[in-house]
Amino acid sequence: MDGKQVLNELTPYKPGKQIEEVKKAYGLTRIVKLASNENPFGYSSSVKQFLKELDPSLEIYPDGYTTELREAMAEKLNIKETQLIFGSGSDEIVQMIGRAFLYPGVNTVMATPTFPQYKHNALVEGAEIREVSTVNGYHDLKAMLGAIDEQTKVVWLCSPNNPTGSLIPREDFYSFMKKCPKHVLVVLDEAYYEYVENGKDPNILKSFTCYENLIVLRTFSKAYGLAGLRVGYGFANENIISKLDVVRGPFNTSSIAQKAAVKSLYDDDFISQSVDRNKAIKADFQEFLDSIGWHYYESETNFLLVSTPVSGTEVFQHLLENGFIVRPGELLGIPRTVRITLGNENDMEQIKEILHQFHVKVSREK
Ligand SMILES: *Cc1c(COP(=O)(O)O)cnc(C)c1O
Repeated sequence: MDGKQVLNELTPYKPGKQIEEVKKAYGLTRIVKLASNENPFGYSSSVKQFLKELDPSLEIYPDGYTTELREAMAEKLNIKETQLIFGSGSDEIVQMIGRAFLYPGVNTVMATPTFPQYKHNALVEGAEIREVSTVNGYHDLKAMLGAIDEQTKVVWLCSPNNPTGSLIPREDFYSFMKKCPKHVLVVLDEAYYEYVENGKDPNILKSFTCYENLIVLRTFSKAYGLAGLRVGYGFANENIISKLDVVRGPFNTSSIAQKAAVKSLYDDDFISQSVDRNKAIKADFQEFLDSIGWHYYESETNFLLVSTPVSGTEVFQHLLENGFIVRPGELLGIPRTVRITLGNENDMEQIKEILHQFHVKVSREK
């Protein structure tokens, strides 16, 4: 059975280590997963309440138009309902974009390192990949513009960027949009939007209707804490949305996920508390890293990419044996780093202790 030729060269996504797997392997009773940028404070209590009282008609297909969530979101963002698309996570919208806009003979431009699903989906569609190295974790927008030609269909901007955490400065984004040719679809992936300090994000909603070639992606998986339910969304002008709607599966978000997303959308307090706590935890952890002399990238997110004195894999392994799962940079295309999701206050106290001991050990060996 032959699939597309390119499938022989690709491998399925390898998720971070799973908790049960690690417990067994190292005889640990408690594992803290700081590997996928999930919200350590869980999710809105109104979602908890909703799930408790749940008596769903599971025999009925979900609402393929996502009406209730769509109305709530359109109102919240002050845009038209027809300017929205929902996916089983924003991952699925990335896939839809590839399916709708990429094919053999065209190319797509992205940063490296960045979120790996852009490249993966583009390769499946047979498009040429043009990767532009980040500078100190930041997108090199000038070089990205330079990589665009007549055959470029999609440019991916991940802001804040996963795995570096850096935010594209507002002015730079607007100047990029001005210079980017209109035949190129610009995808602005704002998966960590809620964590960005007020006033720093591109504030795209104020002006996004002026761009015929922009789609913004956001998700309920990170700050909203609903990664397990799989809901993401995108907004763009109707021309782009209608193309994506053609390739979208008819019932691509479940009825429970749609309802839970609506509940969490109304709980602004949960988001602001999560964001505030994350901010304090980040500052504290940065102070700790300064104290042991480990460099980290500037981050507007709930994770830090930390430069390590030995390979990231070695630090990863040490943390793993002590009950913490993080992401080694070698897996993310940026060696001698680890990406650490910021956990809750207690977990961070523990990981600081473990890292401190490791630092002392490594310094002695040098
Ligand atoms: C986590 C993440 C996503 C995907 O999240 P979903 O769970 O699929 O909504 C998309 N982009 C970036 C940059 C991410 O970090």
